[in-house]
Parts: sequence; structure tokens; C-alpha cells
Amino acid sequence: MQPQAASESPESKRRLKNILEVSGLIDELYVVKPPAATLSDLLRFHTPRYLDELQAGDKARGGNGGDCAPYMPGSWAAATHSAGLAIAAIEAVALGDLDNAYALCRPPGHHAEADQGRGFCLLGNIPVAVMRARALGQAKRVAILDWDVHHGNGQQAAFYHDPDVFTVSMHQAANYPLETGGFDEQGEGAGLGANLNLPLPPGCGLGAYAYAMETLVLPALEAFKPDLIVVACGYDACAKDPLGKMLLNSQAFATMPAQVKAGAERCCSGKLVVVHEGGYSEGYVPLCGQAVIQTLAGSKTAVFDPQNEEIAAWGYQSLQPHQQALIDGWHQQWEQTTR
Ligand SMILES: [Zn+2]
Repeated sequence: MQPQAASESPESKRRLKNILEVSGLIDELYVVKPPAATLSDLLRFHTPRYLDELQAGDKARGGNGGDCAPYMPGSWAAATHSAGLAIAAIEAVALGDLDNAYALCRPPGHHAEADQGRGFCLLGNIPVAVMRARALGQAKRVAILDWDVHHGNGQQAAFYHDPDVFTVSMHQAANYPLETGGFDEQGEGAGLGANLNLPLPPGCGLGAYAYAMETLVLPALEAFKPDLIVVACGYDACAKDPLGKMLLNSQAFATMPAQVKAGAERCCSGKLVVVHEGGYSEGYVPLCGQAVIQTLAGSKTAVFDPQNEEIAAWGYQSLQPHQQALIDGWHQQWEQTTR
């Protein structure tokens, strides 16, 4: 068998940057190249042992940060700059310097845990940035919405006992990681009721996602009254992704950010930061990413997605009865949890 390239590669991110350039959208954005996250930033979330091991491996021949997190020399610089980008985006929006922001991060971060890398993620970009913003008094209550097709286990673990950070994950049930992401994981101790998992069945289209957003996710986010909303924006719930089995098209990646942007306007003066996570279709991530950034910027471009209508016309794209029953059931249970 001839092996194919690793799923996580620079290509989807490079192509997204290129489409922003050729569409002219990048000219409407304020583009920054922030410094790397410092050790003291990282140590708010990660253990010294893990950071030491990662730096030592980076200086040698690379290694494995943990579970499915291989890296090569040079990765420390990339990972700390990726976390630095999330830090700068959250700081700029929290302080009111920007209305909203998109962090085109690589490597991704939402699977990384305090003591290990996981699932192509070395450092927890969002936990590191949120912990820093809170430590510096830039924000007190933060809501994190993860719509990557995989469970946002890193954020969940980082804030599981914390009542002031609300973590939500909409993901494909029992994909990765296998052992986390159930609806019954709702936080512990003071954090009980501040973690909401929606483990969706494979085959969900925009119908299911938009219904879950409108009926459960956004009302829960808004009831939490955050100072800021952060989206862990993976693109692997798109119909073209090799690692996910969902049906979203680029239109969905305009609709969902528009929903959360409207929610942010209702509850936290529009303060919204979107951080790039997974997404492994080199051809389709750029079209979906362009749709997200265009929606955040409130602009239109001439970019045309030739596959949008075809995917939209597939069967099962609309809300299916079994999906609605599941979401309605969660809704009822969630109201009991948070009553
Ligand atoms: Zn993913």
C-alpha cells in the first residue's frame, strides 16, 4: 500500500490564506503577526514536565507529544506562535481594540491537555489564551464553543471545575477521543453545569447543526452571560473531510458564525474570537474558512463555491427526526441540570 501524507498539514491553512489574498478579503482585515506565547503563559495550563519534554524533543529529533501528536524539530516555535496568535486575538477583542478576530493557528490546540499533546495538538491554544486573559483581568467569564467534528476534550479538561468558563462542544459521537464527549459530562464541583457536550450522530447536515445552535447552544451561551465568546473552529464537519462523517458545506460555515455573531451581539457586545482548529480537506477548508472570515468581517466577495449547491441538495441535509429527538432530549435534560 502506498501511504498518503499525514492528515494535518500546512496545506489547508496556506490555501486559506491564499484565497483571502486573491479574493481581496485580506485587504479589509487588520492582519498581525504576534509574538510567541511565553513560558509563563503556557504554564498557566501546561505542566512544567510536559513543556520540558517538548522543548527537549524539539532540540533533538522531535518525538510524540502524547497520543497522536508527533512533532519534528522546529515544532516548539510553531506551537508557541500558534498559541501566541490565539492570545493576541483574545486580548485584542477582550480589550475592545477589535470587534472580532480570527486566529489562523497551526498546530491546532483543542485536544491538548495539561500534561500531554493529543490529536495533532501540542499546546492548548484556547485554554492558554483564555487563562491569560482572565489572569490579566481582561475578561472574567468566557464561553468557548467548539464545532470541530472531534470532541473539544482539551477545553473541557482545562475548565471542568471552573464555573466562570463555559465549554460547549458539538461533535461527532465516539469519533476522537473515544473516551470523552458524552452528554453526561457536565462539569464537576463548582463547574457543574458549565460544560455542555452534544455528541451528534454521523450524517448531520446544516439542518441539525442550525437547530442545535438555535434551540440549545446559543440560549445556553447567552444565559451564561460571558464577557467574550471563543469559537474552536474546526472544518472537519464539512462534507469533504476525510476524518469526519458530517455533511456541512461552505454555506453552513457562513450560517453558524452568523448565528454565533448574533448571539455575541445579544450577550457580550459582539465580542467574538474564532480560532482555527482541525479540517483536513485541502481543497474545501479554504472555501469554508473564507465563508467564516467573510461573515465575521461582514463583507462579501466574488468567491464562488461550486460544490455548495450540490452538497446542499444531498438527502439528509435537513433536520432528521432522529436528530431532532436527540437534541430535544438534551435540551430537556440540560434545563434540569441548570435549573
Ligand atoms: Zn477535528
